[in-house]
Order: sequence, then C-alpha cells, then structure tokens
Amino acid sequence: DSMAKTTHIAAISIPAFSHQASIVEFCKRLVHLHHHFHVTCIFPTIDAPLPATLTLLKSLPSNINYTFLPPINKKDLPEDAPSAVQIQLAVSKSMPHFQQALGSLLSTMSLVALIADPFANEALEIAKEFKLLSYIYFPPSAMTLSLFLHLPALHQQVSCEYRDHKEAIEIPGCVPIQGRDLPEHFQNRSSLAYKLILERCKRLSLAHGFLVNSFSKVEEGSERALQEHNRANSTNSNNSGVYLIGPIVQTGSSNEPKGSECVKWLENQKANSVLYVSFGSGGTLSQKQINELAFGLELSGEKFLWVVRAPSDSADGAYVGASSDDPLQFLPNGFLERTKGSGFVLPSWAPQTQILGHVSTGGFLTHCGWNSALESIVLGVPMVAWPLFAEQRTNAVLLTEGLKVALRPKFNDHGIAEREEIAKVVKGLMVGEEGDLIRGRIEKLRDAAAEALEEHGSSTRALYQFGTQMESFVGHS
Ligand code: UDP
Repeated sequence: DSMAKTTHIAAISIPAFSHQASIVEFCKRLVHLHHHFHVTCIFPTIDAPLPATLTLLKSLPSNINYTFLPPINKKDLPEDAPSAVQIQLAVSKSMPHFQQALGSLLSTMSLVALIADPFANEALEIAKEFKLLSYIYFPPSAMTLSLFLHLPALHQQVSCEYRDHKEAIEIPGCVPIQGRDLPEHFQNRSSLAYKLILERCKRLSLAHGFLVNSFSKVEEGSERALQEHNRANSTNSNNSGVYLIGPIVQTGSSNEPKGSECVKWLENQKANSVLYVSFGSGGTLSQKQINELAFGLELSGEKFLWVVRAPSDSADGAYVGASSDDPLQFLPNGFLERTKGSGFVLPSWAPQTQILGHVSTGGFLTHCGWNSALESIVLGVPMVAWPLFAEQRTNAVLLTEGLKVALRPKFNDHGIAEREEIAKVVKGLMVGEEGDLIRGRIEKLRDAAAEALEEHGSSTRALYQFGTQMESFVGHS
C-alpha cells in the first residue's frame, strides 16, 4: 500500500559477470515480491563496467538503482595472479570508495541492510560501522557455502595439502569429496589465493544471514547443515538465518537477438539431439585440449553446438579480459568442413538460456559454473561435467555423485581428457542407457525447481520471510 514505508537496501557485487548478473536478478525478484523495497546495487569495477552487465542494467525496474565505483586499474593488479585473486584484490582496493558511496547513500536515505557477495565481504565490516544489518547473497551452491563456513575448522583439522588427504573430506550435510575436488583456491595452502579465501570464510561470521542461490529439493542436506551452523554460531539475536531462494538464473536477458544463427540452426535439428558445449563466461582450454575435444566430438557422431574460445594456459583465461584472436583458427585443420551439418561452432559467446531451453538441445557439456548448472537443471538438460576452476570441481561432485544428473569424463595424468574418453561420455549421455536415467532425474529436478519458485514454493516463501524480517527492522528503527 502507498502508506508503507520504503525499505532501503544496498547490495555490493564483484567485478565478474556471473556474480553481477546473479545479484541483479535476485534484487529484481526481491522488489517484485516486496513492492515497497528499494535496492541500490554497487559494483566495484576493473578498468570499465562489463558490457554484458551494462546490457542487463538497461532493463531494471524503477525501484532498483545502481552505481559503479571508480574503476581499479588492471595495471595496478599483479599480472601473474589468477583472475580470482585479481578480482578480490580489486574489491579490497575499492573498499574506501565503497565506504564513501555507502556514506553518501545514508545521508539521503535510511538504509536497513547491506547485502554482499561473499567475495566482497570486507563490506560487512563497513556495514557494521554504519550499524547496518548485513547479509551474504551467495551465488554458488549451498554445498559451497557449507564448505566455506566449515573451512576455518577444516584448516585446523587437516595439516597436509587437501589433495594429499587420504580419506574423502566431510563437509557438513554434503556428499563426501576428495581433496582434489575442493575449490581451486584451496589447492595450495601456502598461496595468496588460499590466504584470501580463508580470511573471507572467517569473515562470513559477521553476516546476520545468508541468501543462497539454490533450492531445498536440490540441496536438502546442505540446507539443514547451514541452518544448524547458523543456530550454533548465532551470537546476534537479530540473526535470522539461512534462506534458499533460488534458482536465480538469467531469464534470457535480451543480450542476443532472438533469431541468432545458432538458434536457427537448432530449429532444424531433432528433439534432444544436440549437445551444447560451453565453458561459461570466461573458461578456456589449452590448445591440446581444444584438439582432443574437437576430435572427441567428431568421433562421438553426435550433433553439437560449441562455443569456442581462443586457447589459454590458465583455465580462467578469458575471465578478466578476453583475447582478441579469432577462436575458430585454433580448431584442428579441416574440422569445420568435416563437421559441417553435424556441428555448429560459434566464437566466444552464445545465448545460453535460449539454447538450453530449445527442444533440440539434449545435453550440456559444461564447466559446472553454478549458474550454468542451475540453468541446466531449470531447463531439464542432462550434463557432462567438465570442471575447470573456482569451485567447479566441487559442483561437479554434487552433480555427478550427489544428484546423479551428470557424467564426468576421466582426465589423464597431464590433465587432458582424451578424444576416445570424450566420445564415450558424450555418447553415453546423448544415446546411452545412463543418459536416459539422467534425463529422468533431471526432469524431476526441473519440476522441483519450478515448484520452489511458485507462489507458495519453498524459495518464494524464504524470500518472503527475508523481506518480512527486513520490514520488521524498518518498523523498529
Ligand atoms: N553465459 C552466456 N553465454 C555464454 C557463456 C555464459 O549467456 O556464451 C552466461 C550463462 O548463461 C551463465 C553465466 O553466463 O548465466 C555463466 O555463469 P557460470 O556461473 O556458469 O560460470 P562463470 O562465468 O562464473 O564461470
């Protein structure tokens, strides 16, 4: 009603497209459910705002604003550091700007809470200084959050490198996981990346609660573990808990024209006959691995739609600034001619949710970024799990061993999946018996995801409760 007081909230993300897109989509859902909420999204920036994000921001409802913090110069970040470290350092360097931005917001409105990306959680300390409530919006899985909250204890319990730990590692509420499948940042305990993630995981205890991009049916065990953790660690009487509010996915943002070439190509294929191959917004393969994948796809005899990127020695090679080389020149000689008709190759970027939602698409070879995994679940597409970096190996374990909706190829001692292995897994998924079973399971999850988002579904209820909590604080302030 028009008499209701506006509830003002600020949100801070990190300079990575998938995180920005996810929090923006979350904010849209929040203000859709709670009309008198107002959110200001704050984006730390490296060099310049991300073009894909600018496109998303063109279609915001009027009760969401945004502001970009003054950019951090990429030249001032250590060149040889992994993207994840560069991004975190850029966020840290942006904190004085953030503090200023928050201060000036507070001089014009009475904010009740700050919602922060887990990789921008220095912001929780600033929120505390300003006496704001603070929440983490967690774009990855509940399993990953459970792991993050558990890391300070795990760090004490295990003294070797995690990958050398003999037994599988038990994360509260989750499928057991081998040390080598823990996130990339955990793999070298003397690295800066590990030091940063450990600090971040400790700092999560400052949050009053967690909004997680997952849903109860898909991560029941983790959800319970998170709630228990929260109860046990709640020093704050305002602590209002854990909210699984997902799946929050891209709703086919108007990034791409509807009739793009690849979608036209899909139109002419049989139902469930095409494998979509993509490694997220910045994943890259080595030249050797590109060759093996090309031959593997060819050998499988299955139809494919492959988003090709120029090779790089680091798996997140295109995450912070892509190469300008034409990616198609890195495919094996004659590959394009030989696969004409059975394959469609496009450089660098594809309208992913349109492709996954198309009836012709029957499989998704994915790097297991959580957004991609959720999109595949929401659209009911069986997966080949091909993790590259960040927490993608952890997601792969959840998808293959926990939910059993993906097949995972074996990599040789040099970290390469060979062509025969790729062909075998692709065929297994697209036309094998296992593929059928996976399809059955993922279609159940697809329905559960839709249910979670219905008016009385678990995720809608959780988001509603969160909003009601916020309102009660406005009422008391
Ligand atoms: N995406 C897309 N087209 C592409 C690659 C990625 O639309 O060619 C979108 C994809 O739909 C997803 C996001 O970018 O929403 C990638 O997020 P994810 O968490 O899967 O991986 P990340 O980019 O963080 O590695």
